[in-house]
Amino acid sequence: MPWRLCHGGSYGLMGNQYCPACLGEKGHHQLQWSIAIYTCCLRHNCFLRESCPHCGKPFRSASRFLNSAFVRSEKDLQQCAYCNRSVANYAPSERADKKTLRLCHVLASLVRKSNCESFFGVLARLLYVMCRPSTSAKNLRAQMLPDSHQMTSRHQSGSPMNFEYLDVKSRAYMLEAVVSLFAEWPNYLIETLRSTNPLHYHLHLSNDLPSWYERVERVAMIPNSKPKPSEREKLLQVATRQGWITAVQFAEEARNTADFFHGRLV
Ligand SMILES: [Zn+2]
Ligand SMILES: [Zn+2]
Repeated sequence: MPWRLCHGGSYGLMGNQYCPACLGEKGHHQLQWSIAIYTCCLRHNCFLRESCPHCGKPFRSASRFLNSAFVRSEKDLQQCAYCNRSVANYAPSERADKKTLRLCHVLASLVRKSNCESFFGVLARLLYVMCRPSTSAKNLRAQMLPDSHQMTSRHQSGSPMNFEYLDVKSRAYMLEAVVSLFAEWPNYLIETLRSTNPLHYHLHLSNDLPSWYERVERVAMIPNSKPKPSEREKLLQVATRQGWITAVQFAEEARNTADFFHGRLV
């Protein structure tokens, strides 16, 4: 399953996030906690937590037995499998900033729309390119992410490798950087594709990208050209029709925020 969170360590070990307050109130895990694009709890406006606050180990609970008859009680779900202490309601999780919450909200609503599949296809490719351990991906991250934020990966190599291996805040920042490419749709993505070869090259390699992306790329391949107003209008219509215009709007807002980190690429 794409977007499934990874812990690092042995291959295939899935990660788990949780909100301590939700776990206390409802007693059970939520499906979206295991999905990498979810970084916050929108009920409690906090970052999701990934480790046990008592022993510091990546959080593992009786969730191993989720969907099975082996779960004995709510307590099992709230207890850390390593130290057996309850993580429910224990120490409030760090509050998330407004921008992170807003993006989490936008993505959470897009996930539920079946016609946003192609948007997530492109998003997945952009994240894939950004998270490679190569030097070019490293340069790309340096250009697109704030200096203050170091990527933290749970992969045993310590490199990002894949988006799914990043810790919660790294994922939140990475998503902001990648979704910000949709600002001034499609101009900013065109400029970025043109100025960053690795991005362009890797996206070009995939043959499962939607036709709207291919149109954007065709313009990007012609130096100094911009899409004609009619073409831009059509691309905006696609985003509206498919429902991911909210991601474009998020990118606009983010770009207009003075403290936002990009603009260095262009
Ligand atoms: Zn919560
Ligand atoms: Zn523990």
